[in-house]
Amino acid sequence: MLISKFKFFLLITAFAAGVSTYSFSGTKESGDEINKKDMDTTVSPAVDFFEYADGTWLKNTEIPAAFSGWGSFYVLRDNNLNKIKGILAELGTKTDYPKGSSEQFVGDFYYTGMDSANIEKQGFKPIEKDLAEVNSIVDLKGFYKELVYIQLGYSNPLFAFGSGADAKNSKQNIGQIEQSGLGLPDRDYYLKNDDNTKTIRDKYVSLIKESFVLIGYDADKAANAANSILALETQLAKASMSRVDQRDPQKIYHKMTVKELVSLSPDFEWNDYFTLTGVPEPGDINVAEPDFIKEISNVVKTTPVETLKEYLKWNIIRSAAPYLSDAFVQANFEFYGKALNGTKEMQPRWKRVLGTIDGRIGMELGKLFVKQYFPPNAKQRAMELVHNLMASLKVRIENLQWMSPATKEMAKEKLAAFTVKIGYPDKWKDYTGLDINRESYFGNILSASIFETKKDLAKIGKPVDKTEWGMTPQTVNAYYNPQNNEIVFPAGILQPPFFDKDADDAINYGGIGAVIGHEMTHGFDDEGRQFDADGNMKDWWTAQDGEKFDQRAERIVNQFDNFKAVDTLNVNGHLTEGENIADLGGINVSFDAFKNTEEFKSGNPIEGFTPAQRFFLSYANIWKIKDRPERLKLRVKVDPHSPEHYRVIGPLSNTPAFWDAFNVKPGDPMRMPDDKLVNIW
Ligand SMILES: [Zn+2]
Repeated sequence: MLISKFKFFLLITAFAAGVSTYSFSGTKESGDEINKKDMDTTVSPAVDFFEYADGTWLKNTEIPAAFSGWGSFYVLRDNNLNKIKGILAELGTKTDYPKGSSEQFVGDFYYTGMDSANIEKQGFKPIEKDLAEVNSIVDLKGFYKELVYIQLGYSNPLFAFGSGADAKNSKQNIGQIEQSGLGLPDRDYYLKNDDNTKTIRDKYVSLIKESFVLIGYDADKAANAANSILALETQLAKASMSRVDQRDPQKIYHKMTVKELVSLSPDFEWNDYFTLTGVPEPGDINVAEPDFIKEISNVVKTTPVETLKEYLKWNIIRSAAPYLSDAFVQANFEFYGKALNGTKEMQPRWKRVLGTIDGRIGMELGKLFVKQYFPPNAKQRAMELVHNLMASLKVRIENLQWMSPATKEMAKEKLAAFTVKIGYPDKWKDYTGLDINRESYFGNILSASIFETKKDLAKIGKPVDKTEWGMTPQTVNAYYNPQNNEIVFPAGILQPPFFDKDADDAINYGGIGAVIGHEMTHGFDDEGRQFDADGNMKDWWTAQDGEKFDQRAERIVNQFDNFKAVDTLNVNGHLTEGENIADLGGINVSFDAFKNTEEFKSGNPIEGFTPAQRFFLSYANIWKIKDRPERLKLRVKVDPHSPEHYRVIGPLSNTPAFWDAFNVKPGDPMRMPDDKLVNIW
């Protein structure tokens, strides 16, 4: 399965192993939507609005041991998990649900995941057969067969192959090949030599060694395997495109025939490979990173088969470890949980199992979730907000000083063509043919993965189904997908503190309103603007307007490059460019829409704050999050979103409505000087 490069999320979800989930102790009291007790009024809002709005909470909150960060999103996710746990408790121990029903899928999957005695007894038995198959490889022919099998059920050694809309013909799915194959979260971990990177790399090698010992290797053989795997992954890392370059849709669009692919990467047997995947004639394929795929040819030509075998085994062990016996789970957590994210202890089993079910058959969980927890009127209220924000973005486009009328017309056309998805899909995903049973937890995981990958491959050459959702309903997140020109808000995020049907407008516009505006602005950020109203990559800008956009965007890059994330590491302004543009646009669009409400027009204070002040306090409230330093170090490398502190002070220091609300004067830290100020949408 591919990770879509073209879905712009509100925030990053779990990466590396283990889904991050959470439990809550909050300070909110009824009628106290802005959490006054969390503020630090000794800090001036003109100096640091994040500290002013959230400072006491930041000082007094300890991140729970089983979490790498804590705050708004974490709390809401944890609440959702508790709700789902409640649903499962109701399903209880009943075993007579009709085969293939959501209750049967979810109930049986959960049963096997919670059966810790059986999982412990099995050790690594669930993957023993697959490891033996790899062990019996004698030549490249055998290697291709196992490579395809592992890509179907486990992970993506070497590269990923799947389906996706053609960037220049959004109605049509084509084959997509993308770089992959690394066990560390980014190529930088293989290529850089600062102390933090070296420490992480050494621990990764130790994890590989330890894992091979667990499957019966002696220490020397395990050490050799680990070293050869690191060398091979380093070769892949060197050929990998950077995350910043991957943000440019043009740089990752190289449609070619199979014949052209073969001449690009001649020593890899592509025709055999496609036949083995069940797609013998895939037609034109987009090769996202040609330099990388060229290197894959060298890899199969020059790497000893024994090394390729160790590498495949490692892919099996690494992706299965979180679901095997404790020794594997613990070793995996020590690295991916502790070393990379700073998490002190593991989540309880039930949360890990729910995270797994969410990841594998999440739409079945979603059906049960929305039935109980998504009131029909929530959809209608959210839809009203979206329409109010669309109207305000339209006016903002009309009033832009820097854009020509011709480009404005195109921008408005794109805005008017937005598809809006709220809550949950109209048409649920079909899991017919998937077998989930009470026999084996890992067996269920493997079946679900193979089912999913095959379903994905079967879309190659078929029209795009634009009704599909890329997120499950219970997810606390949102996204914009430029190829569908759609904004999507799952039921999971349509809850307090983002959205509260009983709260005043300032709270909702400063919360979910800013989120909606953020997703809308993604349609017009540095990546999104390269797609037209129909979702095709096409330049609809006059050359002059394009240049003006780039100049403005460069300013936001410079601003964020100067923010310190953790220790000596700064935010990467280019990596976070699109998200920072979306945050800034989101606030401005939502604030304009808020200005049309009765609450704003009345000017009446609530809880001692003006409507405008409440709007910005609500915004700071949704980003009330703190991360462990380890996680921040990881995020700086891999996350296109800035740390929360800067998601608050970055955009607000560019927002005149905020200065007015809190009397921020020229020269104050929360007011960008004119020569650095940025205003795009
Ligand atoms: Zn975003």
